[in-house]
Amino acid sequence: MLQLSEKMNRLGTETAFEVLARAEALAREGRDIINLGIGQPDFKTPPHVVEAAIKALHDGHHGYTPSPGILPLRESVAADLHRRRGVEISPDRIVVVPGGKVTMFFAILMFGEPGVEILYPNPGFPIYESVIQFSGATAVPTPLLEDRDFSFDAGAVLDQVTPDTRLLILNSPANPTGGAMPRDEIDKLVKGLVDHPQVAVLSDEIYSRISYDGREHVSLLDYPEIADRLILLDGWSKTYAMTGWRMGYAVWPAALVEGATRLAVNCHSCVNAATQHAGIAALDGHQDAVDDMVRAFEERRRVIVDGLNAIPGFRCRTPGGAFYAFPNVQGTGLDARSLQRRLLEEAGVATVAGTSFGHLGEGFIRFSYANSIDNIQEALKRIRTLLLD
Ligand code: PLP
Repeated sequence: MLQLSEKMNRLGTETAFEVLARAEALAREGRDIINLGIGQPDFKTPPHVVEAAIKALHDGHHGYTPSPGILPLRESVAADLHRRRGVEISPDRIVVVPGGKVTMFFAILMFGEPGVEILYPNPGFPIYESVIQFSGATAVPTPLLEDRDFSFDAGAVLDQVTPDTRLLILNSPANPTGGAMPRDEIDKLVKGLVDHPQVAVLSDEIYSRISYDGREHVSLLDYPEIADRLILLDGWSKTYAMTGWRMGYAVWPAALVEGATRLAVNCHSCVNAATQHAGIAALDGHQDAVDDMVRAFEERRRVIVDGLNAIPGFRCRTPGGAFYAFPNVQGTGLDARSLQRRLLEEAGVATVAGTSFGHLGEGFIRFSYANSIDNIQEALKRIRTLLLD
């Protein structure tokens, strides 16, 4: 009999991938499925970025690279952060990894062990809770609140910090809620953290470029007082429609770079070389594709939020960023998972139940609006028909 380690029982998963598999199975059976379940842009990677990868392969960039990423790529990341945030970051503090997820895996493993508490957003990206539990640490949920447009209450979060708290995870704009944390709340949080120097902060800003209403993204990089314990997670996946290329980066505090690099050497050696060259082209080249994509998402956001609010039993806040709407569906009388199942099996609309993002997601459903306006309108029509019949 094979005997797996006990921690394998504590490792969770990301239900969005299961929904995707079921939606694809139904589509193969000939069903017409509208996929509002998957969290990736429906745009193509910009052509100049694709060309850079092809050129890199033709030029012979086929081998291993330094584990934290090639220097020109880390210099491009530093230049991009300087342009956008006005901060000077040494390329030595940047570690490029195969996707934003890898940074969170490394950060949580670096701090997590039995006896330790890690605070994470709930409802939130499911991998936080999963990996915290895998590490043996105690996962302490910080509630994101519908009546605060899915921001948190900084005072309440600080009250949850104990001497055993080693890591606080933040995510703005957020998956699955689309919530964006306002600057005054982050100001309060950072001020309070000064009294808890043992707490590192993992700020997941993978949706940093996808903000609406002209709202400025508030980055934790704006707070020099926590620079020595901030891990900033960002990447190319969402901004440049590069989810399948598998590349992300983090800015690590100088003291943690060696550990992050050692984890990378043990795990994946390096991100594939051609992708790294594409990453340079994405950051250094024109940003028209990003601007166009964000404009398109903003238009779809209006359509889906208005449409959801017009469905009896649904109540939807206007998300400040990312490409998710997270309506409260308690008024339908169905729990989140039953509604997710009925929407997919009976209406052919793939969504993800709020409970896939933690227990505080009960009563909510996540809609990804990375789909065309025509498909969004058709999905809304099908949902109305299903619920009104
Ligand atoms: N962080 C959040 C909040 C996400 O929603 C996602 C992807 O859905 C990721 C990180 C992972 O990004 P990547 O595909 O670059 O690993």
